[in-house]
Amino acid sequence: MGTIRDVIIIGSGPAGLTAAIYTARARFEPLVIAGFTFGGQLMNTTLVENFPGFAEGIQGPELMQGMIDQAKNQGAEFINKNATQVDFSGEVKKVWVGDDVYQARAVIVAVGSEPRRLGIPGEDEFYGKGVSTCATCDGAFYRDKVVAVIGGGDSAMEEASFLAKFASKVHVIHRRDAFRASKAMQERVLAHEKIDVLWNTTVTEVVGDTKVEKLLLQNTQDESTSELVVDGMFLSIGHIPNSEMFSGQLELDDDGYVVHTGSKTSVDGVFVAGELIDKVYRQAVVTAGMGCKAAMDVEKWLA
Ligand code: NAP
Repeated sequence: MGTIRDVIIIGSGPAGLTAAIYTARARFEPLVIAGFTFGGQLMNTTLVENFPGFAEGIQGPELMQGMIDQAKNQGAEFINKNATQVDFSGEVKKVWVGDDVYQARAVIVAVGSEPRRLGIPGEDEFYGKGVSTCATCDGAFYRDKVVAVIGGGDSAMEEASFLAKFASKVHVIHRRDAFRASKAMQERVLAHEKIDVLWNTTVTEVVGDTKVEKLLLQNTQDESTSELVVDGMFLSIGHIPNSEMFSGQLELDDDGYVVHTGSKTSVDGVFVAGELIDKVYRQAVVTAGMGCKAAMDVEKWLA
């Protein structure tokens, strides 16, 4: 049945890549199943100003490429395809990439989370035709156009500020009367001349012909409805853990996060790191730290 490795790492955000660096340095020759869109969420970010060691900040993709190169230099092997199935039931763990199966004594799962969607009419239909979850990827298409950003967290503030560089107007639509975002990021948005905020408002439908033309809105307090003419809608309403593949294999909580003790999962020999177990911090430096812990726990476990 082919080679049995010491460790396979599924995922290539800061958690997976840090785990790869550590396990490679420990000479376990890890296999990283990195995914088609390897590098995680920071591949869709511009300037990262809060990762320690970069006095002037660093672009997200550059940071992630640095981690990938570092892991490769230490001896990690990469497959830039998605893991499609796992079987953690035996002593040897199996991970499939399409028809190919890879085996290891230990597995670290670090596949992170993905953007939450609203689940309203028109959202799927116009996805990629005005509906986006990534301002960094799509913002430049909205030069001198009007866009809406949905959400009130740090991500929404970041997206709104970024989009204001291109768009003629940015409407931030938030379901409450106060932002969840940190004060500094809120202040930047609230002071920006191109950005306004629609408080206590939800989007109930995305309307258009071949692309987004307007949003139907509802006030959460008096339930009054209105319309907002926009060229694009950027969703920034949090994330959902990518744990579907592990359902039935690992114990998950009600929100789909992996149940864990430290980096240990419910299955002996399967470890977890990053946003699959982090509902709170979601910071690259935190997930990198988790990747380090998982790698060190694997090292001990293998010994
Ligand atoms: P978040 O903090 O969970 O905020 C999500 C926002 O979306 C909230 O304002 C929430 O509203 C709203 N929301 C959720 N579901 C919704 C729905 N169905 N309809 C309408 N609105 C909805 O998520 P995030 O902004 O992605 O941030 C995640 C974490 O990353 C946070 O810890 C944040 O601090 C961190 N982060 C940090 C930075 C940075 O420091 N540079 C940048 C980005 C993110 P409510 O407030 O009403 O719940």
